[in-house]
Amino acid sequence: MNLTCLDDDPRMERTLRRFAGRLGHGLRYHATAAAFKEDVLSHPPGLVLLDLELGQETGLEVVKWLADKGIHVPLVLLSGQGDALLDTARRIASASGLSVRGAVNKASMVRDLPPLLARVTPLPPRAPPAKPVSRAPPAKPASRAALDGERLAEHICEGRIEPFFQPIVACDGSLKDAEVLTRLRLPDGTVLGAPQIIPLAESTGLILSLTEALFKRLLAAKAELSELSLAHLSVNLSVAQLDVALTTALVRQLLEGLAGCCEVRVELTESASLADSQSVRELGAQLRLLGASLAMDDFGIGYSSIRALAELPYDTLKIDLSFVAELFDSNKAERLLAAILAMCDSLELKVVAEGVETEAQRRWLCGAGVDRLQGYLFGAPMPLADLTRKFRGSG
Ligand code: C2E
Ligand code: CA
Ligand code: CA
Repeated sequence: MNLTCLDDDPRMERTLRRFAGRLGHGLRYHATAAAFKEDVLSHPPGLVLLDLELGQETGLEVVKWLADKGIHVPLVLLSGQGDALLDTARRIASASGLSVRGAVNKASMVRDLPPLLARVTPLPPRAPPAKPVSRAPPAKPASRAALDGERLAEHICEGRIEPFFQPIVACDGSLKDAEVLTRLRLPDGTVLGAPQIIPLAESTGLILSLTEALFKRLLAAKAELSELSLAHLSVNLSVAQLDVALTTALVRQLLEGLAGCCEVRVELTESASLADSQSVRELGAQLRLLGASLAMDDFGIGYSSIRALAELPYDTLKIDLSFVAELFDSNKAERLLAAILAMCDSLELKVVAEGVETEAQRRWLCGAGVDRLQGYLFGAPMPLADLTRKFRGSG
């Protein structure tokens, strides 16, 4: 059996040669995707060992290439970034029609990889699965949507999309992170909120340009943002009509541009993850591979929260403000929140409680172990200058 490996870490080569040799397999080792692809086309492998972290490219791009080329060889995925990411990558590869033999955490590779290689026999090629039917855009009166969309497009071009920032604090009130929330400042000074802008941008196909405009403003504000010493800057991403490649490219620019200032956290709403789960899985895995943190927004109000937690490599969960608002309405609400926190603890998810408006809520949440809080008690979304004034030197 011929094993072909792509891993940019040269130290892996010796280990893999040892494993392969012991089991009587040949190993063709490549450190770059270009060399790997060329070799796979000329020497069809019996099994591919694929590292997910490749520096410039990610292993997911190689998965996509294998699927596009119809190369349905058995695949073993490798990653040093943990089981959640491996599990999502495995789902992505399987749904692309590839036959995944295993997903191995490099931390336990010495134990987990040899048994997989010992069992390898070539598989018959599998047909790729049927593409999921994409959701039709929501029905809207065409003329009104076009008119509103046109105006929104103009506003975006004129640079009127503005980031507001809401503080996310520790239990002692010190600033730790901030969430970026989109606003539109009209020429007469009126500021429109996200509910007036985002659904329209989504339904008119403008959401990507809006996000791009927003990210540009964030990059331009890097110096002021750096003063705040934030651990994370959170941005919301719409997964309606998702273009994984373009969205990933936008976040990559933001991550690179804000390097040295703060980490980027991407918040996805759980209801959205149903829209086109393969694309959303791909996006989630790509973002984690690029180094972004991934938060499930509005946890608890959709129908698929737990399912989505299993499917995507989230590292953070944001408890929806409705849970916090109902906290003292019943004994059950308190117990439910406590159960959610226990679940997060065992899944090693960081928790942010949203919609904290009262001192009593703050006290209960901190007592229950939540260490990041967001809500009007600490500050509504505001322009960056106001946030800086409010929190300068507090962290
Ligand atoms: P979200 O991501 O859940 O953001 C939190 C929302 O709760 C914000 O509304 C914020 O102003 C509000 N909020 C914060 N603290 C409190 C509180 O203590 N009590 C109450 N009642 N509300 C609080 P906002 O800014 O109107 O945003 C609404 C939604 O629009 C956001 O919900 C998010 O899903 C979406 N959104 C905002 N900006 C963007 C963006 O740039 N891109 C995308 N795709 N969606 C965005
Ligand atoms: Ca959010
Ligand atoms: Ca939320």
